[in-house]
Amino acid sequence: MTAMTRADCVERDAADPLAHFRDEFVLPEGVVYLDGNSLGALPKATPGRVAEMVEREWGQNLIASWNDAGWWDKPRVLGAKLAPLIGAAPHEVVVGDGTSVNLFKAVIAALRLNPGRSVVLGESGNFPTDLYITQGAAELMGAVERRVDPDSPELGEALATGGVAAVLLSHVDYRTGALRDMAGITRLAHDHGALVVWDLCHSVGAVPIGLDACAVDFAVGCTYKYLNAGPGAPAFSYVAERHHGTARQPLSGWHGHARPFDFTGDYVPAEGASRFLSGSQPLIADAALEASLDMWGRVDMELVREKSLALTDLFIELTAPAGLDLVTPRQAERRGSQVSLSHPGGYPMVRALIERGVIGDFRAPDVLRFGFTPLYLRYVDVFDAAAALVEVVCSGQWRNPRFAEREQVT
Ligand SMILES: *Cc1c(COP(=O)(O)O)cnc(C)c1O
Repeated sequence: MTAMTRADCVERDAADPLAHFRDEFVLPEGVVYLDGNSLGALPKATPGRVAEMVEREWGQNLIASWNDAGWWDKPRVLGAKLAPLIGAAPHEVVVGDGTSVNLFKAVIAALRLNPGRSVVLGESGNFPTDLYITQGAAELMGAVERRVDPDSPELGEALATGGVAAVLLSHVDYRTGALRDMAGITRLAHDHGALVVWDLCHSVGAVPIGLDACAVDFAVGCTYKYLNAGPGAPAFSYVAERHHGTARQPLSGWHGHARPFDFTGDYVPAEGASRFLSGSQPLIADAALEASLDMWGRVDMELVREKSLALTDLFIELTAPAGLDLVTPRQAERRGSQVSLSHPGGYPMVRALIERGVIGDFRAPDVLRFGFTPLYLRYVDVFDAAAALVEVVCSGQWRNPRFAEREQVT
């Protein structure tokens, strides 16, 4: 196959059914943004929606907005808007708190649903907060944490050993971009009597997800990556309907109570996924998320997946002359929406690219990570970014000592 030229890319963009979404984002001039898997770009609708929330709902209507503007039900309303993106029913999803907190709730709920078993099985390469939260939850529950490589036979072996109460895995690996077989792994875990918690941080808004179809038990994910809800935006919890009567999470606050306005002295969990709520939510941040989800409601995830694979394929092909190692699986069905390359000089290479307006990021020890967001990236952007990478590497430009200085956030 001959590589695409820049003119071919311009043609692909003209025929792209998702191309019009790019106009719905604020994108700085002269930048190719390949970090939407870390912090998604700002939708143009967001500032107006946030201003309306602050000036009218809060400023003018004050406390009446809890009823009139639907503040009390926001976690459920946003959950219902998010549900189609993850293949869930509207009442199985609530928005609230952060990913780390929601992981804690889900892991403990899974342990409690599986008494007599005490192992939480995680993955050795998972995002650190997943590992740390599992450690904390296991310690509190008198459970044991074990870690395996889920892309190897270790996972099946660990499950077969017995005693596994819950498995916590990332659907897409944040570092390698590997996409896991959600249906197959969930089935395997269930066959061995374990419940599953999927972390969707790097897959929601990046690949189509079918939580109900895969019979998943719990899932959590963040909304500030591919979903563009802004820095520190609230996360979500998915609770399968069959667990709605029995799942108990540990942060039993009043927003998760069955009758919060009775103000009684004892905790009675609400019906459904609402029992995964705890306390008052950041409603200004919820307004930003709502603006974003209203846009996502018009997006066809199958088209996103098709374009995502075309963009990542293109980047892999065009950057081959740089000679870096490809970390991300080459097979399309095993790839999320990112391309990771590795090289000992990864950090200065990423810095040199950023100086040229191509924004990716670096993950220790040696991974150059590039995220592809089909709603606002064009084929021609990928072409230009790949050309910049090849030039930075092949010219030796990245060796300039000023690129080696570490920033606080990489
Ligand atoms: C981004 C990410 C998180 C983020 O957790 P926060 O609580 O939002 O900081 C957690 N897990 C994974 C796998 C992530 O990629």
